[in-house]
Amino acid sequence: MKRFKQYFWVLVLPALIFSCQQHQHDEQVANHEGDNFNYLSEQFADLKIIRYKIPGFDHLNLKQKELVYYLTQAGLEGRDIMWDQNYRHNLTIRKALENIVRTYDGDKENENWKQFMVYVKRIWFSNGIHHHYSSSKIMPDFPKEYLQELLTETNTELDPEIVDILFDPVKDAKKVNLDPSKGLLLGSAINFYDPDITEAEVDAYYADRINKEDKTPVSYGLNSKMVRNEDGSIGESVWKVGGMYGPAIEKIVYWLEKAATVAENEPQQKALELLVEYYKTGDLKTWDAYNVTWTEATDGDVDYINSFIEVYNDPKGYRGSYETIVEINDFDASARMKVLADNAQWFEDNSSIMDEHKKANVVGVTYKVVNVAGEAGDASPSTPIGVNLPNANWIRAAHGSKSVSLGNIVDAYNKASGSGLLDEFAYSEEEIERAKEYGDLGDNMHTAMHEVIGHASGKINEGIGTPKETLKNYASALEEGRADLVALYFLMDQKLVELGLIPNLEVGKEEYDGYIRNGLMMQLRRLKLGDDIEEAHMRNRQMIAKWVYEKGKADNVIERKERDGKTYFVINDYEKLRDLFGQLLREIQRIKSEGDYEAGKNLIENYGVKVDQDLHKEVLDRVAKLKSAPYGGFINPKLVPITDEDGTITDVKVEYPDDFTQQMLYYSDTYSNL
Ligand code: ZN
Repeated sequence: MKRFKQYFWVLVLPALIFSCQQHQHDEQVANHEGDNFNYLSEQFADLKIIRYKIPGFDHLNLKQKELVYYLTQAGLEGRDIMWDQNYRHNLTIRKALENIVRTYDGDKENENWKQFMVYVKRIWFSNGIHHHYSSSKIMPDFPKEYLQELLTETNTELDPEIVDILFDPVKDAKKVNLDPSKGLLLGSAINFYDPDITEAEVDAYYADRINKEDKTPVSYGLNSKMVRNEDGSIGESVWKVGGMYGPAIEKIVYWLEKAATVAENEPQQKALELLVEYYKTGDLKTWDAYNVTWTEATDGDVDYINSFIEVYNDPKGYRGSYETIVEINDFDASARMKVLADNAQWFEDNSSIMDEHKKANVVGVTYKVVNVAGEAGDASPSTPIGVNLPNANWIRAAHGSKSVSLGNIVDAYNKASGSGLLDEFAYSEEEIERAKEYGDLGDNMHTAMHEVIGHASGKINEGIGTPKETLKNYASALEEGRADLVALYFLMDQKLVELGLIPNLEVGKEEYDGYIRNGLMMQLRRLKLGDDIEEAHMRNRQMIAKWVYEKGKADNVIERKERDGKTYFVINDYEKLRDLFGQLLREIQRIKSEGDYEAGKNLIENYGVKVDQDLHKEVLDRVAKLKSAPYGGFINPKLVPITDEDGTITDVKVEYPDDFTQQMLYYSDTYSNL
């Protein structure tokens, strides 16, 4: 699986396939309220609805803006596909419910109506009646009779059998069932297989077709539904122009063809043309050719994902869910990384690590941050925060892959969490003000330094072996710790001001405040009471924070305070704290360079694993009072073309809708293709 989702309480990250900046942002929440843009739109059930901005859109020239506009339109035209893929009755149900929302003019103050609206919004959020994350059927919190009443009063037709299903906890209860005892296919409501098709039939079908010797196999089944033929055999109904989902795919193709006319460069244009050809023919060889071309088209400020991509909604792992993400280069992040990468040697030379562990020729590690301009299908309203594609292993091996972090999405997630945590865990008004003023910049700098100079720094002594070999299960926590410490050490360095990266060292102070607050207290909210810390990033954060707290005790560098029965950690001396970060960095680099397993183990075990139970309980109690929904999803900005009297586009404007219900109704009005 090569996509990455972030939730507030549930963090799902498949190991460390992707670089680790997501974790960074994830933990540095609640520092923000720097602008007046309203990020959090509303909360209901276990969901929060968030808005995001498109930074950098105005950096684009007209052609690029058109390209972005066409690509987002292409994406939205396929929205209904995802609904139908998720469950065979989803579109019917959605149309009926939306008709009620649009036309019902009875009492809207009573509890039943409120619950009905929550139910509809949950279904919109999940692109169907199954929870987007748990995949369990969403059960209504109002009586069946109430729905029947609404249907009657609005003259809405909905098959009574479907109404029964909505209120039946058993029938089609799970979108994707991975419990083999219930049958992977028979137990799943997903609409990738006709309901009576069994796993054994599917296995036999592909055993006949897949040649295990093939070094460049196509992605079998990626773009089709498996159906029962009249003669009882099984076959595929292909999603293409003239095939299944044809009406939606024709519109996708219409916009993609327009996009190809304003492509930024030839490889990008070629890729778009291949994608169109694939949609027209359904030919999986063309899909591979497209992916190779798309992967190699790395120039340009605009990129996109559009098609049947991820297969985790198919219990058998063949069929791809429709999704689209349109991306613009994050110009600020790129500029920041370039400055750091250009100066990587200075940071190496001036680091606190021992001279013999310094690299003579250090090369900064850069990564790609993009800003999302629009999403649809599987990526909306719930979205990944990073994507690494293509999925075909042989293409990845031969042609590489594109890995991006969705910068503005991560940013909006963080901002939507508001200042609740900050207000709760920061000790002084000064700390809170500093976080509000410099939190964004500090987080961005920390992330960039962690990645670009942190992971690039230091060398292993000759003949020692890789850290994975020498430090074993502690290698990744120590590596993340080292990268964090490089960032922390230089965040209080005047050099950053000289390079124009930060206005003053208040930014560094702000990050120190946040790091200590989080490492000693806030991050414990992700852990169940009684559990040890397992996750590498959490271990490294507590290890660092606890180590500097204890080592600085004699000088009262960090003070544990209590007020109204609440615990706080307050930094008294930022310069001394910087020095402590430098000392720990030096020691961890030594451990890495020498492969000193015992010392590495002791650091992590003594500082990073065990949790102070009383403090943990206190954190959980304090956080519980803040009430924040665990899952977030997004309202997309709306791109509006401005045309002259000939219909030529002269500009594209960005509007930021603020009402989830309105956006969902608007999408259904505008992009109902199935
Ligand atoms: Zn890292």
